[in-house]
Amino acid sequence: MKDSSEKVDIAVIGAGLGGAAAAALLANAGFSVHTFEQAPAFTRLGAGIHIGPNVMKIFRRIGLEKRLGEIGSHPEFWFSRDGRTGDYLSRIPLGDYGRKEYGASYITIHRGDMHAEQIAALPEDRLHFGHRLNAIEEREKDVLLTFDNGRRVEAGLVVGADGINSMIREILLGPEKPRFSGWVGHRALVNMDKLRASGLEFEACVKWWWEASRHIMAYATKGDGSEYYYVTGVPVTGWEHEASFVDSSREEMEAIFGGSHPVVQALIDATETVTKWPFWNRDPLNLWSRGRLVMLGDACHPMRPHMAQGACMAIEDAAVLTRCLEETGTEGYRVAFRLYEATRRERATKVQTISNANTWLKEQEDPAWVYAYDPLTAALG
Ligand code: FAD
Repeated sequence: MKDSSEKVDIAVIGAGLGGAAAAALLANAGFSVHTFEQAPAFTRLGAGIHIGPNVMKIFRRIGLEKRLGEIGSHPEFWFSRDGRTGDYLSRIPLGDYGRKEYGASYITIHRGDMHAEQIAALPEDRLHFGHRLNAIEEREKDVLLTFDNGRRVEAGLVVGADGINSMIREILLGPEKPRFSGWVGHRALVNMDKLRASGLEFEACVKWWWEASRHIMAYATKGDGSEYYYVTGVPVTGWEHEASFVDSSREEMEAIFGGSHPVVQALIDATETVTKWPFWNRDPLNLWSRGRLVMLGDACHPMRPHMAQGACMAIEDAAVLTRCLEETGTEGYRVAFRLYEATRRERATKVQTISNANTWLKEQEDPAWVYAYDPLTAALG
């Protein structure tokens, strides 16, 4: 965009996992969309992500399903196991079963690889890095957006996909910091040589459980088995750091999970670089949109990550919001935003609640209500 006074029909704020999906889906539906991201560029941070069949159907629509399916790992099962004895607590079939029953693959993938594919799918001239939104003026016919680089943009509609510290949320509901959930997660891509040298089997998707719901979720992030990742969930008394994450260590992992099952011990032994992240939270919001502003993803329903569905909910939001705007056109945005919230609120809140409770798939249960759902065809309203 050359001219700072240029008008855009729809501005998406934030090109994270939800914002990038919204930009692609809205453009796909024929809307004129520009996306503004504060980061100067994205880097491949060491972390994995699960993408359920509910969202692989959306990636099919965007044209990314095949590519992501080629990069990612396709676990046959989600296993839950006792961290000390290794006893199986649940075996949730995925793989071929999931494709047949849920209509698409369940994959685990490096989130940087997935995000890079999402970003590459967007037209470069409509994705604006280095644009941090810092002021909004809601006017009768549009919204005036001001970015920290001085650029000003007049947008017909604004989609706040700006994450847990969303500025759009703050405009709608006032300043309020997210609440520390009392939990942290350690994240590590482990050393594959050390892992292989152990001679043990590392299942493609397994959650190890200890008392008080402490856990390690471990999985492959590449289909060729060349990368293996874990993320923990550990209750702590507080989070005193300013930074969004801090370094942890193999010693810390040993202190928390040492003396466990040999496969867990091998994971700890193969840990070289590990970081520690606080998990933040908010109660369900009572407002998802106002006037020409609407939110999706972590901006309106952040959750602890234990159901592996936070980004999936953001991407589902993007799909449903697009469908609602297709129904009404941008002029009918008030109706579209009401329809969007009516369609999304119950499901997103249910996932948020179960994710925060950290009970998902610990015991044998039927996950069809999450995975078989198709956000592209589900009834609206
Ligand atoms: P984000 O991805 O946070 O993106 C927000 C974007 O907005 C960022 O790029 C940010 O730079 C930008 N931004 C913010 N403010 C501004 C501004 N003022 N101006 C311009 N740009 C701005 N989810 C899953 O589905 N599966 C998983 O397996 C999974 N595992 C997880 C593991 C961990 C440890 C954690 C912490 C989360 C996990 N999640 C998972 C959740 C998932 O990461 C989030 O729910 C998801 O990233 C939310 O997407 P979003 O687009 O709403 O926000």
